[in-house]
Amino acid sequence: MSFWKNKRVLVTGGAGFLGRHIVERLKNTGCEFFVPRKKQFDFTRLEAAGECLATFKPQVVIHGAAYYGGIWINQLYPGRIFYENLVMGANLMEAARQHDVEKFVQIGTACSYPGYLENELAEKDLWNGLPHETVVNYGMTKKILAIQALAYKKQYGLDSIHLILTNLYGPRDTFHPERSHVVAALIRKFVEAKQSGAPEVEVWGTGRPIREFLYVDDCAAAILLAAEKYEALEPMNIGTGVGTSIRELAESIMQVTGYPGTIRWNTSKPDGQMKKILEISKMRRVLNWQPPTSLRAGLEKTIAWYVANKEEADNRL
Ligand code: GDP
Repeated sequence: MSFWKNKRVLVTGGAGFLGRHIVERLKNTGCEFFVPRKKQFDFTRLEAAGECLATFKPQVVIHGAAYYGGIWINQLYPGRIFYENLVMGANLMEAARQHDVEKFVQIGTACSYPGYLENELAEKDLWNGLPHETVVNYGMTKKILAIQALAYKKQYGLDSIHLILTNLYGPRDTFHPERSHVVAALIRKFVEAKQSGAPEVEVWGTGRPIREFLYVDDCAAAILLAAEKYEALEPMNIGTGVGTSIRELAESIMQVTGYPGTIRWNTSKPDGQMKKILEISKMRRVLNWQPPTSLRAGLEKTIAWYVANKEEADNRL
């Protein structure tokens, strides 16, 4: 019988960007899934986390809820990012162990890695330094939650896994300029510049930083596979292993949107970490899988979705 059949699964953040794609995939597994809403269960309160678990009685919790965004929101709201992500995660794990959850899936982030490593980011290097200063508030919270997972296994026997995700993009991403990551931000800028006939588009930084971009639905597939197959407490990377410079990314988005103007690089905005690519040999081995969607194909799907749903996408904070 499949791992998911008749399981009760709670997806926190299930109405958000990644969460909606996880839920779409869960629909085909025969499980019963629940998406708690923030208005009803505010996970920054332990009692609310407890009530949520008492209500849904899940066997599996996928903790995808997060308050986060791209490089800019980390500069605007570092305190809120730190507090909400740390406390939500800590409360949910505490509630999970009180309510005998069988498997807790913690969604982590590549922002947890040390900020100045030269090579691809391998799991063994996770603890070897502080995250980059542009993302340290978010990155550290998830690292602390990985320690909570160790402590909770030791004292309470809670089984959990910690998945380190690279930069995601895709339909239903956040396109708001304060919060968006680079892919969504640039898609919006190029589509709007094309529509308005603007002669140039501002892109932040120097164009030299290297990032890895994972199509959100591939990421959802990886999370379900990992929930099923991965058992160890040590964090596991989820990515493509492919690096792309911001310059190349901007040029691809320009081509796919058909924008005829030019790019203006605004070097007063931060580059952030110069290179962020995950080392994914463990993911390949454990999941026996790798992401099927190329960056080009993913950009085409995302841009088509954005153009068709622009108003809804722009209004989402
Ligand atoms: P990061 O991976 O945490 O640094 O987050 P982002 O996805 O926000 O940014 C990645 C890179 O894209 C950084 O070097 C940014 O400076 C660059 N970038 C260029 N233009 C933009 C933009 O309009 N918005 C964002 N968020 N990043 C941009």
